[in-house]
Amino acid sequence: MLVGENCVHETYYEILSVKEDSSYEEIRNSYRSAILHSHPDKLNNTSHRSSDDEKFLKIQKAWEVLSDAELRVVYDNDLRSSRHDGITADEISIEDMSVEISGEVIDLFYQCRCGDYFCVDSSELGTMGFALLRDGDFVHVRRLGTFVASVVLPCGSCSLKTRVWVDSDMKISFQEDVL
Ligand SMILES: [Zn+2]
Repeated sequence: MLVGENCVHETYYEILSVKEDSSYEEIRNSYRSAILHSHPDKLNNTSHRSSDDEKFLKIQKAWEVLSDAELRVVYDNDLRSSRHDGITADEISIEDMSVEISGEVIDLFYQCRCGDYFCVDSSELGTMGFALLRDGDFVHVRRLGTFVASVVLPCGSCSLKTRVWVDSDMKISFQEDVL
C-alpha cells in the first residue's frame, strides 16, 4: 500500500540514494555528491526555491543519522518495524513489561489480547541499541542512542504488534518467582 495516511515517508537511504546495506564510506560519498548538487550556496539566485533548502536540510538530517553507528541501528530497527504489515496494538512503556531472568539473559514480556505474549530478550534489545542491567530488584534500561526511541514487538501467536517506548534510564521492577 503506497498511498494513504500511513504512507511511509522517504527514508534516509532514499534521500541519500544509497542501499540500506551500504557501508559508511558509500554513504559518505553519496552524501558529498548530494550536498554538491543541493547546497543553497551552489544554486544561483534565479533558480533558488525553498524546496531546494528543504532538500538540503533533509540530506543533512539523513547524514546526521546514517553516519552515526548508534543512531543508524536505532533508525534501521524503526524502519524495519514500520514496514511490517499488521496492526499495532496499544503502545506501552518498557516499564510496563514483566521481567524474567534466566542466567545471563533477561526476558521482557507483555501479554497480548490473545493470551500469548510480546517478548524480547536482552540480547535482542542489545542489537536494537538498548542495554539491560540487573540491579537488585530492578532492571535498568540504558539507551545507547541519544533520543527517545521505541521498538515494535510482534505477538508470538497473532498478528498484533505493540510499540514499546524506551526512555533513558528506565527501571523495571521484577519478582524472583514470577510465573
Ligand atoms: Zn496476540
